[in-house]
Amino acid sequence: MKIHILGSLSGTEPKPDRHHTSWVLELDNGDLYMFDAGENCGRSAYLMGLDLFKLKAVFISHSHIDHTGGLLHLFGVIRKMRDLSGDETPQKIALFLPRPDIGEPLLRLLDACHTYPKNTEIIPQMLTDGGNFAECGITVEFKGNNHIKVAENLPPESFSFRISAENKFITASGDVHGVEEIMDWCSAGCDVVLMESGHHSPPEICARWKELDCPLKKIIFFHHGREYLNFPQETLRKCRRLWGRKVNFADDCSTFEI
Ligand SMILES: [Zn+2]
Ligand SMILES: [Zn+2]
Repeated sequence: MKIHILGSLSGTEPKPDRHHTSWVLELDNGDLYMFDAGENCGRSAYLMGLDLFKLKAVFISHSHIDHTGGLLHLFGVIRKMRDLSGDETPQKIALFLPRPDIGEPLLRLLDACHTYPKNTEIIPQMLTDGGNFAECGITVEFKGNNHIKVAENLPPESFSFRISAENKFITASGDVHGVEEIMDWCSAGCDVVLMESGHHSPPEICARWKELDCPLKKIIFFHHGREYLNFPQETLRKCRRLWGRKVNFADDCSTFEI
């Protein structure tokens, strides 16, 4: 399977050659699962040659605009491709959302913009702490985190994910308050950990994983923040001193074979 990075940037002001956060898991059977939908995700997916008619589900870790800004356009791209190709094969896309007030307005906006994709059913659903999505070949576990503070009696509004597919585990941090929030999954071992570096120092996170002796096979930092953007070589060097070539920093439109 493959991980395609559609956008590698945290919620900064616009930057050349990087867009806000979005990535896609492509299984060997061609099915696509998208995680977060920052600006430009539909455009990048199309230009990378991904077959969006194979998109099965979209998981939005939280509602911040650097994770949601491209949702409307993503479905607009699918609509355009439907129109151009004449392909009328029915498609169902599960849209997992962190809040109940996004799904219906989004569907109404798609209608108002005349861009709801034909022959496509978009099915908004809620992420829940401890919940999961499971279908043939893939399971995605949801864990609430403290990136967005909510009152104690309210459900979480920001989530991390652990994906198992093709006998491999991928931990995807989403935005997190601290790396400790996903440490149980990291300690259990993963083939890939996709870690946001927008709110954290990558070398410090690498040191913490080392300290706890986490069995990580591949580390991909993305959702880049100032430390990596301002000092890319130095940051990479510090991380690789601890983890060698297991550490990678993603660029937009990069693909990792898993
Ligand atoms: Zn973010
Ligand atoms: Zn955020």
